[in-house]
Amino acid sequence: MRIKLASKAGFCYGVKRAIDLALSTAKEKAGNIYTLGPLIHNPQVVQNLAENGICEINDIGEVKEGTVIIRSHGVGPEIIQAAREKGLKVLDATCPFVARAQKYAHEMAAQGIPVYILGDPGHPEVQGILGWTEGKGSVIDNPSEITRVEHPKVGVVAQTTQPLSNFQALLEALQNQGVEVDARNTICHATGERQRAAMELAREVDVMVVVGGKNSANTKKLAKICQETGTPTYHVESARELRKEWFLGHEIVGLTAGASTPDAIIEEVKKRMNEMDQMTNGEEGMSEAMEVKSPQAGELVKGIVVQ
Ligand code: SF4
Repeated sequence: MRIKLASKAGFCYGVKRAIDLALSTAKEKAGNIYTLGPLIHNPQVVQNLAENGICEINDIGEVKEGTVIIRSHGVGPEIIQAAREKGLKVLDATCPFVARAQKYAHEMAAQGIPVYILGDPGHPEVQGILGWTEGKGSVIDNPSEITRVEHPKVGVVAQTTQPLSNFQALLEALQNQGVEVDARNTICHATGERQRAAMELAREVDVMVVVGGKNSANTKKLAKICQETGTPTYHVESARELRKEWFLGHEIVGLTAGASTPDAIIEEVKKRMNEMDQMTNGEEGMSEAMEVKSPQAGELVKGIVVQ
């Protein structure tokens, strides 16, 4: 069995930067270091951060002193202000690409124009950008939501993980309303590159394995993209979840990982897949010697499984 890794997979720039910042801060000062929400959507990494004294809180009100790390998704200015007013030290690990979307949204709101944010209304990155619009922002999940625009000019930014096609559809919907649009394409290339690489790989392999947190939106999206190519796709968080039945009778297995998956976990999954392959070959050899008929691969694994 051959294992092919997607040309772009795993940690993106913004996530790596946030983790490096957190760990270097933990080395410099002991205790009272908190992240506002999980620093990344990967339970193993969050566990490792906790072992380094970096704890997760959900609200600034939970702590009285120490350092609060703002994760790569960013937050609105009111949260940073609240933390500073409490005397907390703020370490801002907002990804520069997200910070750029916040800055554009803030500038457009300061000009007095309504700001549309294309994205998932429940996602913390979108809520953070919304916080920079001084009450002039609204979140658009789907371009078809645009029906009537009152203002002659509007601004548009996008959640960094949005597909470009969605952004273009929103601009078209607004232009059809006859309004002037100040559009800032704030989509991050890291997401698009990983999705393209995953799709291309899924099309050429027999089975795909996608590694990343079950709560990671970008990993779930990668799994969905692979699944949609028709290739059986499995989403795992770690090597422990792998099942050798998934690979029986298959020659090429593709491997990719979400932007919040560390290289060490990808390597561990790859190593375990190789071990399973060796074990299976060994078992097949033994079965033949004992004249025990091996089950058909198709009976064991069929269809698409995305957990
Ligand atoms: Fe930054 Fe892009 Fe990574 Fe999001 S996906 S953290 S915007 S580099």
